Amino acid sequence: MSASKKSINPALPIRTCIGCRNRHPKHQLVRLVVVDGRLCRDERQNLPGRGAYLCRNASCWQKCRNGGRLLHAFRLSALNALEIDWQGLAEWFEKADNARDESESK
Ligand SMILES: [Zn+2]
Repeated sequence: MSASKKSINPALPIRTCIGCRNRHPKHQLVRLVVVDGRLCRDERQNLPGRGAYLCRNASCWQKCRNGGRLLHAFRLSALNALEIDWQGLAEWFEKADNARDESESK
């Protein structure tokens, strides 16, 4: 396979992954938002409020596991202000990782 190099369309909104700090088209990332004090995935990327973007892979999520990047992204001072389903999110990112590998081989 040779088509791994993609040109980035300047019209696409670009966001920075809070895990790896790389910039990607927004639709390739997963948006996280805080709803009622709880960290949620925003599948449609249309929920109100401050969002943070992450690559759909487990390694970028791992970089957030100590919480510092999430605190920074959401401008919080303490992680206990935020309810996070660490296990559920970790599982989701693991699955997203696998799904991405499959879709890239098409
Ligand atoms: Zn990333």
